[in-house]
Amino acid sequence: MHLLAPLIDFLLPTLCMVCERVQSHIVCSNCLLNNRRAILQRASSCTVCGIPITTPESRCLNCVKNPPVYDASLYINSYTSELQYALHAYKYQSRLACAAGFSYLWNQCADMLSPQIFADYLLPVPLGVSKLNMRGFNQSWEIAKNIQLPITVRKIPDAIGRRGDEAPQATLNRAMRKEKMEGMFYLNTNWCGRFKDRTIIVFDDVMTSGATMNAIAALLKREGAKHVSAWVVLRTLPKP
Ligand SMILES: [Zn+2]
Ligand SMILES: [Zn+2]
Repeated sequence: MHLLAPLIDFLLPTLCMVCERVQSHIVCSNCLLNNRRAILQRASSCTVCGIPITTPESRCLNCVKNPPVYDASLYINSYTSELQYALHAYKYQSRLACAAGFSYLWNQCADMLSPQIFADYLLPVPLGVSKLNMRGFNQSWEIAKNIQLPITVRKIPDAIGRRGDEAPQATLNRAMRKEKMEGMFYLNTNWCGRFKDRTIIVFDDVMTSGATMNAIAALLKREGAKHVSAWVVLRTLPKP
């Protein structure tokens, strides 16, 4: 840390990206605590999809009956939490400083989210070329690149490519949507054959149905990946 950092923080206060009160950090201590509390409150969660469960089982009924392709998931908070407004400002109003805020939040919650990390690679979910050109940055990568991980975990921003930006059409049936989604992602040629027996983290800003994560996990499993974890900032949870 720069020796003058405390003085600079004092002279140049910022706004907490979550509650928008004047603070010296991009996420204030109160908002950090709220998010840590949210993680604590779901201490009993499905080890695969991450939704809170009330039974002593390790997996929810849905993951037992119809398991997703990814093996495990971590997230900071629910999509309906206060964090969603900062995420919208980040993505849709290009408030890039929020990327550092989300990385900071993740790092400050890492002891609760993932005390031990066994992974070979971290790959962000890619954007299609036209969306990347329009937004100017990949929101998942901008957060992921500042997440503190053991030096043995390689972060690779461009291993996975994405063919189109459009979501699979609602008029298609479930099987057709799955097929279309799986066809959207591919490995860039210099990464083909390099994920066999590897443990991989796939990082995204949001997980809703899990279809994107499943499609990427399926691609990596076809390549022989041993374990795929889905790490997301916010995820949609079923209504209690
Ligand atoms: Zn705050
Ligand atoms: Zn589950």
